[in-house]
Amino acid sequence: MSAFRSMYLGLILIATGWINFAVTQAAAADTSQYFDVGTTIDGVYLLDPATYAVAQPGPDLEPTAEGWAPITLMDLDRGLSGRHFLIRFSATNTSPEPRSFVFAHDLAFLDTMDVRMVSTTGETRTRTISNSEPFSSRPVSFPGLAYRSTVAPGEVQDFTLRIGMDTTRRMNIGIKLWDSDSFEFYEAIHQLKFSSISIVLGTMSVLWLIFSIIMKQKSFAYYSGYLFFLSLSMFIFYGFAYQFVFPDYPWIQKLGFQGPVLAAMSCALMFSTSYLSLTDHAPWAHRANVSAAALLAIGAVYGIFGGSLQVTVPLLMASLFVPLWLWFCSLLIIRRIRSLSVLLFCAAWGTMGLTAAVLALHIAFKFLPNDWTSTSNYDAITIASLVEVSILTVSVALSIRLLQRERDTANVAATVDPLTGLLNRRGFQQTVDAILQIPAQGRWSLALLDLDHFKVINDTFGHGAGDQVLVDFAELLRDSRQEQDMVCRMGGEEFAILFDASSCTDALAHCERLRARFADNPTIVDDQVIHHRVSIGLASHDCTVAGAISLDLMLRQADEALYRAKRSGRNRVVQSEEDDLPKPDVVLELRLGAKSKEATIEKV
Ligand code: GH3
Ligand code: MG
Ligand code: MG
Repeated sequence: MSAFRSMYLGLILIATGWINFAVTQAAAADTSQYFDVGTTIDGVYLLDPATYAVAQPGPDLEPTAEGWAPITLMDLDRGLSGRHFLIRFSATNTSPEPRSFVFAHDLAFLDTMDVRMVSTTGETRTRTISNSEPFSSRPVSFPGLAYRSTVAPGEVQDFTLRIGMDTTRRMNIGIKLWDSDSFEFYEAIHQLKFSSISIVLGTMSVLWLIFSIIMKQKSFAYYSGYLFFLSLSMFIFYGFAYQFVFPDYPWIQKLGFQGPVLAAMSCALMFSTSYLSLTDHAPWAHRANVSAAALLAIGAVYGIFGGSLQVTVPLLMASLFVPLWLWFCSLLIIRRIRSLSVLLFCAAWGTMGLTAAVLALHIAFKFLPNDWTSTSNYDAITIASLVEVSILTVSVALSIRLLQRERDTANVAATVDPLTGLLNRRGFQQTVDAILQIPAQGRWSLALLDLDHFKVINDTFGHGAGDQVLVDFAELLRDSRQEQDMVCRMGGEEFAILFDASSCTDALAHCERLRARFADNPTIVDDQVIHHRVSIGLASHDCTVAGAISLDLMLRQADEALYRAKRSGRNRVVQSEEDDLPKPDVVLELRLGAKSKEATIEKV
């Protein structure tokens, strides 16, 4: 085992060493001090160590007494961080046409770039571009600092650039060179890529906000907040906000994306804590999440209102571990809740968590090849967040379906009697309510059926046998019902049926058949034959004569008839004496019992 591990570590070390060597060689060999802008130049790094000199802080565009010195890989890795670099290169044009080219810093956070150009035509130009300058007046519209120049055929332009970071943030050098056509293409792709990502995330955020309001789910609101702040941070990070929307307010760029990222991570913590029901499953993780979310929210407000980068950047670095932590939380939960939505949640944060952690560790310890410090790692995190958001969306959608199913199950449980599978009193009430929505027609009859001396059956044969009698009776009622009839267990050994009969005689005959069938078919439990009887009270209502049905009235009439059936010897059907008397033209309110509240499930 340990031999394997050392072999594995050895391989990694060799690979890392080789990559570093390869990068140094590539930097030394691939680029030239001279660029022919008459040919296609497509995002070439100005990385040739021979063209660099490390300058002391100061306004000079001339190197110090030591002169131009090759830049080391170490210098590149450490970046600018409160220093200035001088870079020297020349542009020639061997084509017969004048050609323009652009050089730009490929990330948006360089503080200044002084440009000096001396041409073979005798022309000299200097220009200082700083990130405090409004975008509308910059030489090139680009999120990073950029400059454009046109070279006549045969002309040579010698450039000296002085790039600098005033703050002590570590900044890598990513100046690239393009011919104008290639640059425009690169710009178009850049804009398309990040505007579509921002728009997709922003739209999803609005949709989830609407869901959260409609479904009254707080966790979806946090998810919506997460998407919104993620979208906002990309909107700022990739330059859209200040390049196009607010080109005269360069402070938006200085404000940075730290605040929105912190806010997004704060929302992610709150979302996950309720999505995974951490309060129930891991209260300590819930407490940790809420505290961290509060801290990040304070950091976000501080960052959004222009707080010091000395505070927001370390906080941002720490927040890059939030996805990894959420992955860990989901791993805790998945052992208890084995659902597809938690599994997807786990996959989503796993993808994002590992990518963000590698990035954070890389920024701190620089263990990846140099090229990783350019746009590619931000591309990696952007792609990871898109993958994460897509998987999370499926996960949340699945959890909505689960929630719906749980609600359906709870609704069934609340309206169905578990022993017999018939509607219970509440289910009966709801179904009758639905029927009452339809204009009443024909004759409705209501029968109340109460088993005779049921207590004796229980006492003689046991409660289990009593249950079997109830089940058999329910089966008999179900078996003899017509399509539109409703059968219900009102409670105990009392049942009700609401059925459609063409006349009182028909209704009476139907009840009589039920009574006789029950009496003729004893229940057999453990070879014991249980003879049983039922008494039935019947009320009928002719809608064509008496208007809307009043279940309340019919129940009272049927109950009174049932009472008379019991009094007159049981095992019989008695019809209500008031049947078919013209009723007053009043619609009575239906009330079978206290209207119970809808079952709701708070948690996903
Ligand atoms: P009567 O003919 O006057 O209706 O007499 P009865 O014994 O049927 O009526 P009573 O109201 O005195 O007793 C009803 C019994 O039904 C009492 C109760 O224990 C029993 N019972 C109620 N629900 C259930 C049940 O779900 N299962 C069983 N086995 N018994 C039940
Ligand atoms: Mg009873
Ligand atoms: Mg009874």
